Amino acid sequence: MRSELCQLSIRELRERIEGGDSSVTEITQSFLDRIQQCDNKIKAFLTLEQESALAQAAKLDRELAEGKSGNGLLMGIPIAIKDNIVTQGVRTTCASRILEDYVPPYDATVMGKLTQNGAVLIGKTNCDEFGMGSSTENSAFFPTCNPWDLERVPGGSSGGSAAAVAAWEVPGALGSDTGGSIRQPAAFCGIVGLKPTYGRVSRYGLVAFASSLDQIGPLGKSVYDVAILLQAIAGADPKDSTSVARPVENYLSELDQGKDVKGLKIGVPKEWFGSALDRQIEQSIQAALEKLEGLGCPVVEVSIPQTEYAISTYYIIAPAEASSNLARYDGVKYGHRSAGQEDLESMFKCTRSEGFGEEVKRRIMIGTYVLSSGYYDAYFLKAGKVRTLLRNDYLEAFKKVDFLVGPTTPSLPFMMEEKKTDPLEMYLTDIYTVTANLAGIPGLSMPCGFSQEGLPIGLQIQAPHFQEAKLLRLAHALEEALDVQRPALAV
Ligand code: GLN
Repeated sequence: MRSELCQLSIRELRERIEGGDSSVTEITQSFLDRIQQCDNKIKAFLTLEQESALAQAAKLDRELAEGKSGNGLLMGIPIAIKDNIVTQGVRTTCASRILEDYVPPYDATVMGKLTQNGAVLIGKTNCDEFGMGSSTENSAFFPTCNPWDLERVPGGSSGGSAAAVAAWEVPGALGSDTGGSIRQPAAFCGIVGLKPTYGRVSRYGLVAFASSLDQIGPLGKSVYDVAILLQAIAGADPKDSTSVARPVENYLSELDQGKDVKGLKIGVPKEWFGSALDRQIEQSIQAALEKLEGLGCPVVEVSIPQTEYAISTYYIIAPAEASSNLARYDGVKYGHRSAGQEDLESMFKCTRSEGFGEEVKRRIMIGTYVLSSGYYDAYFLKAGKVRTLLRNDYLEAFKKVDFLVGPTTPSLPFMMEEKKTDPLEMYLTDIYTVTANLAGIPGLSMPCGFSQEGLPIGLQIQAPHFQEAKLLRLAHALEEALDVQRPALAV
């Protein structure tokens, strides 16, 4: 039985703990066993917290036995978090050499919320360095493998979190999404991932990549599990002035009530179905749209004309903000410091040359360029204007429809090394995801089928600002209607 516990959803595990059918220790051990058995192939974890997880589990079991455990939403549930979210006393590397030995003195707000809700931290997951990438190949340490085909990438940048959930190493995880980094790996790994509205979840303790785009969000095996995780982490935070003081809806009761979705209007942006889209993905999305019609949701074509410029806009704004955010890694306060340098300038130079990987350096250079005098107006300022136009496109579309539905990615999970040496090819994989970050709206990716080769296909639903409850309701209904059958994992 213990070996099967790791296959259960958060919802099912909660029932087992509440009913006294399994102890937190048994559950935690089941996931640790699974990690022991398969993580040498998946490589989802950068740091495992085996001992402290078991100690925490034992403590929760004692509290449960004494009836003083409180009623945390995640009581006894093992969780993994992406290694760009700081954890007090637990190494947080951002998958970068420059932070290889960094042990934060404080917890991110989301980590504190998970703990308050009774979650057990299992470990920190691999990602692209500082979240820059779409395949987890940009980790300074090692790439993570796709649990459905070990020769393929799990997506990125939250590839470790997505692969860990898909491979039953944890029932749920947190990631961060600046341009698709929760949704794209969720799509590639056949699970559910949600990027909340900008401001819905505190970014305090999320190591900044592009501050106006970054958002933390949940990954899980089902829409319900993602709703539980979002419920636990959402809300305003005095430590993050961009978090929004708007009450958090009750996502779970929204799903528990089983309200139907009849009459909710679906818009399909015509720009999302261009020639770049893989045929199998297109067919799978079309079939899902028919299911939505069957649920009583009218489907109409809409247009987001600025989609064409989204990648260029994103790859100006994100590197610009990154170049400024990453200025703090200079070897002075924390992180790697190059040894034996004689003056300050060579210390800065060598520290950063040794500490950052290729893609991070590329972004810092692009960002510095687009912000520099003489180029600022032509690039950064202009990108900001296009961003406003794109946001307006969305506001227009949402006057006519409740949601936008389409593919999460233009292609199926690609092979390791396939795009690694061609940054532009890699950037183009973000075409359907960056728009939600630029507009600040929520986006969710969920499985909508598997290809002939047995690879997962992700469907994306985008909603107006702060409409997470309605978004989860639609996704939940579609999940039931689709009833996607999963082939066997590769591990
Ligand atoms: N793939 C995108 C990038 O490399 C998005 C990354 C992210 O969302 N963190 O910038």
